[in-house]
Amino acid sequence: MGLLSGSLSRRHFCLCCMTGAAFAATGGWLSPRQAFAEARGLVTLIKDSAASSPVTSYKLRGNVSVLEGSGGNIAVLTGPDGKVLIDGGISVSRPQLTKTLSSLGAEPITHLINTHWHFDHTSGNEWLHSVGAEIIAHSNTRKHLSEIQRVEDWDYNFLPLPAGAIPTEVLSANRKLTLNGASIELKPYQPAHTDSDLSVSFTEPDILHTGDTYWNGVYPFIDYSTGGSIDGMIAASDANLAASADSTIIIPGHGKPVSNKSELTAFRDMLVDIRDKVAALKKAGRTLPETVAATPTADHDAKWGQFVIDPAFFTKLVYEGV
Ligand SMILES: [Zn+2]
Repeated sequence: MGLLSGSLSRRHFCLCCMTGAAFAATGGWLSPRQAFAEARGLVTLIKDSAASSPVTSYKLRGNVSVLEGSGGNIAVLTGPDGKVLIDGGISVSRPQLTKTLSSLGAEPITHLINTHWHFDHTSGNEWLHSVGAEIIAHSNTRKHLSEIQRVEDWDYNFLPLPAGAIPTEVLSANRKLTLNGASIELKPYQPAHTDSDLSVSFTEPDILHTGDTYWNGVYPFIDYSTGGSIDGMIAASDANLAASADSTIIIPGHGKPVSNKSELTAFRDMLVDIRDKVAALKKAGRTLPETVAATPTADHDAKWGQFVIDPAFFTKLVYEGV
């Protein structure tokens, strides 16, 4: 699932209003039922808010930039072969994205790699393909984008994308590309956030895009409808840590777009701690509402619970997988 990131986007996203209203209405903690009801409107809300959000770019290293403000964080490699995008954002922000991409150079967009199938990473596929991008993704991304896909935890049915938006180059094993003189490594994860997750590494500038296996500073969504799980997220975090050095620039799917190994370590440790606490409660026979009421995320909420996946919803996502 994807959401905008950072304090700037959050304002445009207007979750402040929604969460505030929910808290005002309930006088505090949301029950799981209320949390899920809140989640249901989010897909629409995310699309609407992306339409008016600015897209901001940050220069990293080796002609790689990251763009924030259109769904998941988008990496861009520029050069004579054309622009290579990692994720395509949300289609309604095409004008802002076009403007920001133009500011990085005049070359056309020639390649788009989807880190997974979720709409906030693939909704831009159709227009990006129409201006010349070849779309590369995990074979399960092509599968999910070609069918009606229900995400139970969002109570939402995603329709198949039009033909031009479907990836034409798919992989289910590691693949290396050389574009703009840069080595790009694509590596499928074991099912983690979904069953279609890919990491993308730019070897020389030492930059790793993790897709939604890593949300920087905020609780992540986990999509059990298409193979995700809390244990898969922890395993993917371990794989991300093993692939990173202290000098690696890490681009998360969501949250502050420029991250590093120490922040990723904190994310992994948070997942493990909450998983252990929720598993112990479930093993002791607690129902989901009882587990939420026991606040197993309490030690982490001040830091991680300030975005769209709130403590009750995240507890539910962990409970589902232990
Ligand atoms: Zn996602």
